[in-house]
Amino acid sequence: MFGGRINPKINLKDHVVNKQSIKDINLADKRIIMRVDFNVPVENGEIMDDTRILAAIPSIEYSLKHDTSLVLMSHLGRPGGNGFEEKYSLKPVAEHLGSLLNKPVKMAPDCIGSDIQLLVDSMNPGEVVMLENTRFHAEETAKISDGKDQILKQENMARQLANLGDIFVNDAFGTAHRAHASTSIITKYIDAAVAGLLMEKELIFLGNAIEAPDRPFTAIIGGAKISGKLDLLKSLIQKVDSLIIGGGMSYTFKKAKGFKIGKSIVENDLIDIALETLDTAEKLGKTILLPIDNVIADDFDENANIQTLSGDFPDGWEGVDIGKDSIALFCEEIRKAKTILWNGPMGCFEMKPFSHGTTAVCNAVAASDAVSIIGGGDSVSAVKQAGLFENMTHVSTGGGASLEFLEGKELPGVAALNDK
Ligand code: AMP
Repeated sequence: MFGGRINPKINLKDHVVNKQSIKDINLADKRIIMRVDFNVPVENGEIMDDTRILAAIPSIEYSLKHDTSLVLMSHLGRPGGNGFEEKYSLKPVAEHLGSLLNKPVKMAPDCIGSDIQLLVDSMNPGEVVMLENTRFHAEETAKISDGKDQILKQENMARQLANLGDIFVNDAFGTAHRAHASTSIITKYIDAAVAGLLMEKELIFLGNAIEAPDRPFTAIIGGAKISGKLDLLKSLIQKVDSLIIGGGMSYTFKKAKGFKIGKSIVENDLIDIALETLDTAEKLGKTILLPIDNVIADDFDENANIQTLSGDFPDGWEGVDIGKDSIALFCEEIRKAKTILWNGPMGCFEMKPFSHGTTAVCNAVAASDAVSIIGGGDSVSAVKQAGLFENMTHVSTGGGASLEFLEGKELPGVAALNDK
């Protein structure tokens, strides 16, 4: 079941999310049009990972318990936007959802159009319809730069989607950072627009971590590059007590501190920014922990020669993981924390010999009593790979969305919902 362990220190009712949720309005006998994030991996019609479907079940069951009829919509993958493509059909998702709910889920042949309106108008309370992939229509994702015609088509699509329900529920946190027809534009054409339970849970946990963390608050940031997480680093440095930096991005910091880093991944144009970040942390009295030793390899290959060292890297070698002294240092800091936020691996964890740092950090977070928030993306894969999903307080379903939320940016899919 999605959601991780229940942490007794978090009383969800204590935290005020300023957006209405399905719990705040009367649902009885209404038809709900719900945006979910069913963008799951499908291979040959088989769902390879149903985490996102499971994550939407609480809102679906809550709605059905309140005598609603339920119209579900989602995108899946990146179809061309020119109509139906079998590969990106939500049919297997509807079937799987039906087996999870133990009731039929009727698959609609499209998401808009007069036939869909007729199909939905004939629904009875308790019935569920899954609309076909919203991205079969290019206008779903239209941007200003696509031109006025596409924007008008997008408004028209949003209006048609809005006509399919009395209440719009957005439970798709994973796409909340996108201003699409089905995520935010739809709210212009429907009065009741509220958060689903998953959306609310994401806002509570990520919001709590950022705004009211139990202290000490430690963030662990890794991944390939600083550039993708620069805004995150800038935002977190103001909020945390300590910041652990690992992964590919740590080599830019190492170079900035004057060390040789061989052929490690580096962003030379961000060396000044790295120094600035270290300087800001010092001025704010925040601790930044960088790796004190690394596993280095003479090739980006799991069969490469490897060695662990601190200090300068020899020419032709590259950093691929944190070393054992860094693991000990990072894990000690994690043990002291009361709130932990983790985003990004400590090394090239997809290759077994270079996965030890990421696995050790994962184990330390899982063993901690702290509120542990896994901020989406590759850290979620690492947690799943280690079989520790249930040991985390909250594993975010949104990669890009959780990143933008933690950076302090407004998410269009959240901003468009009705205030409390
Ligand atoms: P991100 O999407 O920014 O969180 O980056 C995740 C990716 O960073 C993963 O695919 C890791 O393999 C990669 N990564 C982590 N450490 C390194 C490293 N030392 N060199 C190259 N890639 C790395």
